Amino acid sequence: MRIYIDFDDVLCETARHLSDLAHELFGRQVPYEAISGFDLQQAFSLSGTEIASLMEHAHRDDFLAGLTPTPGGVEGVRALESLGHELVIVTGRPAISHPGSCGWLRKHGLAHLGLLHVDKYGRADTRRTDADVPQTLDRDAFAEQRFDVAIDDSPLALDLLAPRRDCLVIVYDRPWNRRYAQTANMRRSDSWTEIVALIGGRS
Ligand SMILES: [Mg+2]
Repeated sequence: MRIYIDFDDVLCETARHLSDLAHELFGRQVPYEAISGFDLQQAFSLSGTEIASLMEHAHRDDFLAGLTPTPGGVEGVRALESLGHELVIVTGRPAISHPGSCGWLRKHGLAHLGLLHVDKYGRADTRRTDADVPQTLDRDAFAEQRFDVAIDDSPLALDLLAPRRDCLVIVYDRPWNRRYAQTANMRRSDSWTEIVALIGGRS
C-alpha cells in the first residue's frame, strides 16, 4: 500500500516546540494542551509581524533539526516499511524548509523516504522559483497522487482527504482536531503502535 505520512505533529512534536519558541520570542505562555485551534497566530495571540517572525524561525534548519520525534513514530515508520508498504512524507511546510526537513529525516535514519511538499493550506507559492528546492504540488497535482492510507492532524489537510473514500485516513489525535467532524473513511489515533496495527492488517 502507498501511505501518506504528515510531518509536523505526526512524525515530530512541532507544536510543543512552537509553544516553547513563542514563549522565548514573545513571552507567550500557551501550553500544548491549550492549543485548541490550528491557527497559531490566534492560538498564541500574535500580531502579523510576530507570526511571520515565529514561522521564519520555525523553518530554520537548526529549529527543524531539534524537533523531538513523536513517541514511537520513527519505529512505526520502520515497522510499516518492514511490512512492505511504500511510504511518502507529505508536508505542508514551504519548500524553503526542504533542506532542514531532509536533515531531520537523515538524523533519524529516514533519509531514503520521499518528501512531498503540498499546498495543503491554500497559501503556498506553487511556482518553482529556486532550483535548490523542490516544487510544491498544488491541490490539483495532489489530487492525482494515489494513497491507500493517509495520516494527518490538520483539519485543513483532513478536509482535502475527506473525499477520498477508498483511502483510510488516520486522524492523529491533537488538541486542535478534537472537534473535527470525521468522515466515514477516518479513524482517530494518538498511538503509533495502534496505527501500525490498523494499517498492518490491510492489504
Ligand atoms: Mg501536521
